[in-house]
Amino acid sequence: MISLDTFTGGIFDTNCFFLPSPGILIDAPQGAAEWLTAQGHRVKTLLLTHGHIDHVWDAASIQRVHGCRVAYHADTAPMVTEADFFRKFGFGWDIEPVTPGELIEESPSCEIEGIDFQVLLVPGHCPGSLCFFHKTERVLFGGDVLFAGGVGRWDLPGGDRDLLFSGIKAKVFALDDEVTVLPGHGPATKVGIERATNPYLL
Ligand SMILES: [Zn+2]
Ligand SMILES: [Zn+2]
Repeated sequence: MISLDTFTGGIFDTNCFFLPSPGILIDAPQGAAEWLTAQGHRVKTLLLTHGHIDHVWDAASIQRVHGCRVAYHADTAPMVTEADFFRKFGFGWDIEPVTPGELIEESPSCEIEGIDFQVLLVPGHCPGSLCFFHKTERVLFGGDVLFAGGVGRWDLPGGDRDLLFSGIKAKVFALDDEVTVLPGHGPATKVGIERATNPYLL
């Protein structure tokens, strides 16, 4: 069983996941920085599944406090490095921008802090949405792509329903049935369960 600590925070109840021994944090919802400190967790690399504000809220403060690497897809870069990015779309939010980090592309094999991940690019909920598949533990950190009984919304700026659905079917559903999916919101699920029962994808 994977060694993992989970925190859910912010007004959208956004999940983040911390892998203690490699020191990898996946996403940074509001309250994550404080939670990490309270738990005594030390982050070496912060991976961002995508640039939506509820997932990157604490990214800059975590980067500052932990001196960690921050990594994300190129399409995520403007969302996390421009403080007023979301204002262009009419949202009344500013973020504290991160110092530009490392760019990650889709890859069958990407080593991060000694862990071998398969990186899936599944846009449609948000441009640059990445899913990180921990190959040895058979766990997919999926962001807002696929939920237990649901999928990410596609009506936000840059969203595309067809792209989202085709990406899930071609990439996430290419993984084995027993792969655990840890989504950005809500409970864990399995690829096989979603392939068989997810009402959006039947
Ligand atoms: Zn999102
Ligand atoms: Zn979200």
